[in-house]
Amino acid sequence: MDLTLLSVIELSEALKKHEITSIEIAEAYLQRIAKKDGEIGAYITVCNQGTLEASKNADTSLSDIAGIPVAVKDNICTKGITTTCASKMLYGYVPPYDASVIEKLKSAGSFVLGKLNMDEFGMGSSTENSALKLTRNPYDYDRVPGGSSGGAAAAVAAYEAPFAIASDTGGSIRQPAAFCGVVGMKPTYGSVSRYGLVAFASSLDQIGPITRTVRDNRLIFNIICGKDARDSTTAESVYERDAIDISSLRIAVLSELMDSASADVKEKIIKAASKLERLGAQIDILSLPEIKSALSAYYIISSAEASSNLARYDGVRYGYRVKNFDDIDDMMIQSRSEGFGEEVKRRIMLGTFALSTGYHDAYYKRAKHVQRAVINAFDRIFKSYDLILAPTTPGVAFRFGEMKNDPTAMYRQDICTVPASIAGLPALSLPVGKNAAGLPIGAQLIGAAFSENLIYSVAELLEREVKYCGL
Ligand code: GLN
Repeated sequence: MDLTLLSVIELSEALKKHEITSIEIAEAYLQRIAKKDGEIGAYITVCNQGTLEASKNADTSLSDIAGIPVAVKDNICTKGITTTCASKMLYGYVPPYDASVIEKLKSAGSFVLGKLNMDEFGMGSSTENSALKLTRNPYDYDRVPGGSSGGAAAAVAAYEAPFAIASDTGGSIRQPAAFCGVVGMKPTYGSVSRYGLVAFASSLDQIGPITRTVRDNRLIFNIICGKDARDSTTAESVYERDAIDISSLRIAVLSELMDSASADVKEKIIKAASKLERLGAQIDILSLPEIKSALSAYYIISSAEASSNLARYDGVRYGYRVKNFDDIDDMMIQSRSEGFGEEVKRRIMLGTFALSTGYHDAYYKRAKHVQRAVINAFDRIFKSYDLILAPTTPGVAFRFGEMKNDPTAMYRQDICTVPASIAGLPALSLPVGKNAAGLPIGAQLIGAAFSENLIYSVAELLEREVKYCGL
């Protein structure tokens, strides 16, 4: 039996029955990575020794993920394991501590298999902005895996990890999940601790799981969520757990997001909607004009926060420092000029501009007003509807280089994912089919704050109906 083909829940069941051991799981994944990752390029670091050792000592009675390894996006701090953010700036940085999510996973008996490639500091939608390596879409090696968590989605899709932990600021979990045919959840802002996540835009960043099944995703989410004293934005949330009655559900499909999608994506979302309708849900098409401005607001707000968060990389306290310089100003300027990639510098400039005197009101303040309007619009919808069904992306995975020279074309890829981000709402992407060329298509379920349990329940139903077949 090839253990890499099993879901997390299947592995857990086999472990509990003593049919397999944690060492066998670790060995199967390390072999798979050794065989496959030369082509895919999902990993920046593979913890060969650490994984084997941890698997030998694993206490498989601790939880449903005990004895099962996790792959981690390289912007989440892992004690003793390099955390690079796929940047030259943090290349070689070894955190002295674990992020809270890693602590939680470890106390549940999981251990770190390796660190995954991404767009530098989480900025991008294709993983082409990694300063370290290229990651290919496992479905078509000429295409991008999506981003910024491209390594995470590709690793899970290509059976190089049983599950991954990643971050989503404007779509970085959901969009690559859609491009690679896997399940990705961006939880409610504040439901999972960000302690130990390298900040991009602190008011939007959120950690979540990438898995091959919805049930696996729910399992991981329930382990990592909850209040954390080290992140004051976290909430002790109550997740309703009652069985849902699909015939009482009202689901909205937003025309603005449907209009942004290509014909093949639209077709699959309509199919998904009719499947839910056949199960008894009421589906209505609604218009939410406010959502059209969400993308512009997102790029102003996220860049403004990024310009401030990334000020700490000054060559003094963190990361890269040039060897030759005249004085301290020259040292900082040169270190930042050489240590950051092109897209990161673009965001810093955009953000600094939007926050500067004279432009603050016209850009940043206005973007915050738009954000408020989007939040209010969602509130209005969730007064009469339980969930929103939408495309995750406007199209399927694109080819390398296709968007590289037009940053705004790349930004437009996020049109369907940023509305939930700027409103802090939970949103899950699950595969709902493939186009004629065999490329995966993802559907997004967006819910009211802290409605993860409802999202998972409906996603499980949809997953059962769709019968998506992975690689
Ligand atoms: N693609 C978006 C961006 O470049 C989202 C990134 C993210 O969610 N980390 O900002």
